[in-house]
Amino acid sequence: MIVIGITGGIGSGKSTVARIIYRLGARIIDADVVARKVVRKGSPALSEIVREFGTEVLNANGALNRRKLAGLVFGDNHKREKLNSITHKYISEEINNKINKMRANEKNEYVVLDVALPIKKGFLDLTDVVWTVISDIGNRIRRVMEKSDMTKEEIIERINSQPDDDEYIKIADTVIENNGTFEELEQRVARLFMQIKTG
Ligand code: ATP
Repeated sequence: MIVIGITGGIGSGKSTVARIIYRLGARIIDADVVARKVVRKGSPALSEIVREFGTEVLNANGALNRRKLAGLVFGDNHKREKLNSITHKYISEEINNKINKMRANEKNEYVVLDVALPIKKGFLDLTDVVWTVISDIGNRIRRVMEKSDMTKEEIIERINSQPDDDEYIKIADTVIENNGTFEELEQRVARLFMQIKTG
């Protein structure tokens, strides 16, 4: 089984690339979905978060108030690193479990791992190839504003909190520039996937 890691900053087009490969027959693991799952109500990750940041990050029903937590770590690198050090180990573990389960079924030939933060353990150590998606900042802001209710300022803040393009490019086996149409992206990705399939 070949694991294709897809990474890039917010709005670069990672999930779009992942979906294109999914439609071509690969399985998909979205780190965002995993990140949400590991902090569900009653989870060990959530207990650790509460121990660090207090019960004020919980809703009345005991579930994580993501906005409250985001507000607490907003603009505070130390707090954000603390939060990451808690969540990353649970996310890595869950991704690793998912990949191992998929590996057990020989029908799963290709898996796409869609991750915004290309950390060593839980991404780089699990992927056979890394594709980095980059896109001009104007395109990224416009596309994210169209798909979400984030403001331009919030998007810029997120971009600034993520690694620079250079960092993403450094770890890439292939860099996919996504400044054209969806059809152009689709063609490029299909070609790259075919290269992997044909070895
Ligand atoms: P996030 O980090 O927020 O998950 P992402 O890198 O996964 O972002 P996508 O969700 O794939 O980015 O893309 C952002 C938006 O831009 C989506 O609505 C997607 O449909 C759109 N988009 C991506 N690439 C193109 C393209 N080449 N042409 C037009 N729209 C695009």
